[in-house]
Amino acid sequence: MSIESLIRFGPAGIPIQCKGTSTLDGVRCCAELGLQAMEMQFVRGVRMKEEQAAEIKKAATELDMSLSSHAPYFINLCSNKEETIKNSFKYIYDAARMTYLAGGSITAIHPGYYQELSKEEAYKIAKKRFEEIAEKLKQEKIKCFLGAENVGKKSQFGGLEEVLRLANEIDLIKPVIDCSHLVARQDFPLKTELDYQKLFALLEKQLGDYVRHFHFQFQEVNYTDKGERNHLALGTNNEPPYKPLIKVLAENGYSGTIICESPKQEFDALKMQEEFYRLRKKL
Ligand SMILES: [Zn+2]
Repeated sequence: MSIESLIRFGPAGIPIQCKGTSTLDGVRCCAELGLQAMEMQFVRGVRMKEEQAAEIKKAATELDMSLSSHAPYFINLCSNKEETIKNSFKYIYDAARMTYLAGGSITAIHPGYYQELSKEEAYKIAKKRFEEIAEKLKQEKIKCFLGAENVGKKSQFGGLEEVLRLANEIDLIKPVIDCSHLVARQDFPLKTELDYQKLFALLEKQLGDYVRHFHFQFQEVNYTDKGERNHLALGTNNEPPYKPLIKVLAENGYSGTIICESPKQEFDALKMQEEFYRLRKKL
């Protein structure tokens, strides 16, 4: 049996065991480890220079490394403060632009907070601002998806339904599905193979071809009633479990990227990749 399926695995940031400290070092290090993806970290600001981005793009192309990024954490598109809105706009624009210049295709974004807003009000405001950013990127021919990520806390705007709706209504938005956040925010249960099958069925129903180029984040998570507390390494509490996900991926024609944001990032990315190859060989 042969089903076309390519899943790329990689860490969120420069591998822990990498001796160098630059993003370029990280890209090379991932390739040496046999990984095929890496998420560039802009979480504390976009400080990369254009010349660095050009070098990264060249190396990533030669090494067949698929790049994405994570936009700054300080974004709140639902804010009513002018300065926060202006800064959020700039953080997203800068992250998308630098990702594109470095040869990447998507930047993961935590869209914001409900604060005193109703869910519908927050949605309308976030949507309008995403549209403005998408318009500017289009005008400047910056080809980078806005990766609206399903968030992990109940106080945050960006539940699974909300990011899928945004993706349906705005061309340039492609959701980033963080499995640990789905569990921590209780947006979607992930325990069994059947749960993962249902998740992919939902994604395919809502977004069609997305399951052929999905962008996921995967690690385990520690959480309370309010949602996510912190990320955990694979095998700590099995919430969510990775093996049933890998089985569903190995047995279906889904393709995409899985970024590991665990405290053991590249080690856990390799763990998932090994399991994927092992199951694919058996088919
Ligand atoms: Zn994130």
